[in-house]
Amino acid sequence: MTIAIREKPMKLIWLEALKRRLLEEDPDFSYYHEQFRRVDAGFAGEKKVDREWLELVYPYTFFVLHNLMLMNSAQHSHQLDTLFICANFMLVVEIKNMNGRLDFDDITHQCIRTKPDGTVEGFPNALTQTQRHMQFLKVISQNYSLPIEGAVIIANPSAIIASHPNTIPIFHVSGLQKHLHSLLKKYPQAFLSDKQLTQFAQQLLSRQLPSKIPAPIDPSRFRQGVLCPKCQYKPQMHVARGIWTCSRCHYTSKAIFAEALQDYQYLVRPTITNKQLREFFNIPSSDVANRLLRKFQFPFTGSNKDRVYHLPENLIEYMQPFFHSS
Ligand SMILES: [Zn+2]
Repeated sequence: MTIAIREKPMKLIWLEALKRRLLEEDPDFSYYHEQFRRVDAGFAGEKKVDREWLELVYPYTFFVLHNLMLMNSAQHSHQLDTLFICANFMLVVEIKNMNGRLDFDDITHQCIRTKPDGTVEGFPNALTQTQRHMQFLKVISQNYSLPIEGAVIIANPSAIIASHPNTIPIFHVSGLQKHLHSLLKKYPQAFLSDKQLTQFAQQLLSRQLPSKIPAPIDPSRFRQGVLCPKCQYKPQMHVARGIWTCSRCHYTSKAIFAEALQDYQYLVRPTITNKQLREFFNIPSSDVANRLLRKFQFPFTGSNKDRVYHLPENLIEYMQPFFHSS
């Protein structure tokens, strides 16, 4: 079995950074907060479903690929929450983490959610989205003649699945194991060898589009500096000997710098110079900034004074060992 680990989407990391820093008076403040809430709930729902795959008892080779972002021939993207592939069939899974009553309309292709307080909202129909992905997979998997199935999984146990057409199964996450076993009964025959199966999975992964950070927003719209997490990211923290201290509550931390630098990486740019570090993080001395930059051994280009440091991906994880090393 191969189960890929689902990484936090770039958009969510970007929204987290913005949530910490965007000024309250910004005209888009509530828009971005709502965006964050939705993307965060979506990711939490996906993680919940991911745990089910780990418990799957299946004796043969299979792949579970998460967050596949592929491009079709018309240059439109397909974002697949999860794709399960075994030698007998593949299953496209669309995951929704919503509460309330959900009505899926096959004629208008809309999903209508009625919240417990009676508010009614419209969403894109997950069943239609899944069918679209299935059509696309049919085209790109022609050489493998593997049956394609789809399912919509509701990750929130309090959601009520009300009216829905019978085009694609839709069920709560607790029904996933049973559904997979029913598909194995439906397709008892293996269409691919293990080698072909692996080749197909690798082919899909090689088509994966790189994820992009959303367009930069004007730095005058957000707070700069290393901000204090104990004070709702309002006051700036100041550094002495690598330790950051909040001037309001006196909270101290070394590792908080990693989160702040990641915010910079996502909201401003993926590279940083000594001057840019001093300006953004309000560091008065060039020597202090230099020590901070060298400590983490970031890859760099340029000579001494004009050195440009390239901030690695998964920056927080990358920086962790360096905080313990001194
Ligand atoms: Zn504080």
